[in-house]
Amino acid sequence: MVIVGAGFAGLYQLHRLRALGFSTVLLEAGSGLGGIWHWNCYPGARVDSHVPVYEFSDEELWRDWYWDERFPDWTALRRYFQYVDHKWDLSRDIRFDTRLDTATWDEASTCWHLTTRNGQSLRSRFLVLCTGFASKAYIPDLPGLDDYEGQCHHTAHWPQEGLDMTGLRVGVIGTGASGVQVIQEAAKIAASVTVFQRTPILALAMQQHRLTRAEQDEAKARYPDIFRTRTETFAGFDIIRRDESALAVSDEDRRAGFEQMWQAGGFSFWAGNFADIMTDETANRTAYDFWRDKVHARVHDPAVAELLAPTEPPHPFGVKRPSLEQTYYDAFNQQNVTLVDLKTTPIERITTAGVRTTQNDYDIDLLVMATGFDAVTGGLTSIDIHGRAGTTLKDYWARGVRSHLGLASAGFPNLIYLYGPQSPSGFCNGPTCAEVQGGWVVQLLNDLRDQGVTRIEATPHAEDSWRDLVLHDR
Ligand code: NAP
Repeated sequence: MVIVGAGFAGLYQLHRLRALGFSTVLLEAGSGLGGIWHWNCYPGARVDSHVPVYEFSDEELWRDWYWDERFPDWTALRRYFQYVDHKWDLSRDIRFDTRLDTATWDEASTCWHLTTRNGQSLRSRFLVLCTGFASKAYIPDLPGLDDYEGQCHHTAHWPQEGLDMTGLRVGVIGTGASGVQVIQEAAKIAASVTVFQRTPILALAMQQHRLTRAEQDEAKARYPDIFRTRTETFAGFDIIRRDESALAVSDEDRRAGFEQMWQAGGFSFWAGNFADIMTDETANRTAYDFWRDKVHARVHDPAVAELLAPTEPPHPFGVKRPSLEQTYYDAFNQQNVTLVDLKTTPIERITTAGVRTTQNDYDIDLLVMATGFDAVTGGLTSIDIHGRAGTTLKDYWARGVRSHLGLASAGFPNLIYLYGPQSPSGFCNGPTCAEVQGGWVVQLLNDLRDQGVTRIEATPHAEDSWRDLVLHDR
């Protein structure tokens, strides 16, 4: 059995399948464990899910593990993965620095033939791809980018040895979760930070705090309940959505409820909101307006506040995964931080010295591409996967993703992908999905072995039904 990717999903597969006696090897393109946390080391990179929800539920792991913060940063997450490696003894079956390049199905032998970039060849009856939803960085093809003479880094390709932003003129393109985190750190030390915003992010208050050992010891009695709850809730957190409609309570009670969620921090204002926030536009608008007022109360310049949190929502609140912030909105009150609205003044080109919009030239020493990823499908389609009829998965999905259960595709026998398209990957907390979806896959593979079944394949009919359900069901 070959697994690809050493993030939460892949490590869970390795641990569970090996325990069931499967002969298993895991291929990992990076030199260490952690998936996205192996690569992400930009200043301020930290997870938006709180602990212990953002960790494995195995008591052998959590019993002796302690975090420093409610929302750990990338250094703490890397330490956690080393600890998991030590406890579960994973590395002995992981080939690091090994990127899977091609996978070709061979019907005669009922096997996948695999080749890696560093010249290895493998055969595997089943192929389990755990490449994550953000393994292929997206860098827009901006004119002039190649001629830029300053430093330029995508957040996911930040130099592992670090980069000191002190005194630099920093430009950040993109205001997703990664952009927010870089911007709030750069604002503290850079000579200037120019933020190039296309769509405003709807960032919620993180309400970060430090965790003591004593409070974690006290909380550990509740961990089994927390881990059970996260398997039963929207988005895989231990946050319970309210029963009542936002429109069934008085304005005063609604505001009090919103304030309570806000103070709880993290994703409470999203996953623990009123029942109809995600299904009723009027209810949704009450949450948006509350959020907008919160931002406007912090940003001194009303014009900047309006760009960051417009009167009319750029999209309904919460339909795009929100991000969390600590000092993001305060940063825009500082003299050294400038917001550039790309909707009214788009980027014309990158010059040798910085960024030229239709209105201005901005000289920049460090250009940060916080422009996201070829998300969800990119990690899968960047592998040359040839199915039963020789078609590649990339070609098969060229006119839209087709999958059964968000796990498998017709024409690609014995290929399973986790946290992929048409699965809950867009919204679900990673470790929850790794265990819920991943546990189902482990059970499937075990049952197949028990029944002597060596080959499975999604049928086109099953794909049609699943696609229809995902795209149209309410
Ligand atoms: P992202 O959410 O896709 O954001 C990319 C940003 O770049 C958007 O603001 C986008 O604007 C902008 N952009 C893209 N192309 C552009 C162009 N040509 N010109 C100007 N702007 C452009 O990427 P991300 O922030 O890296 O986040 C990716 C995923 O990882 C998200 O799901 C996020 O929640 C997750 N994440 C989580 C954490 C965490 O847990 N702390 C940290 C980082 C990321 P438009 O919106 O207009 O396209």
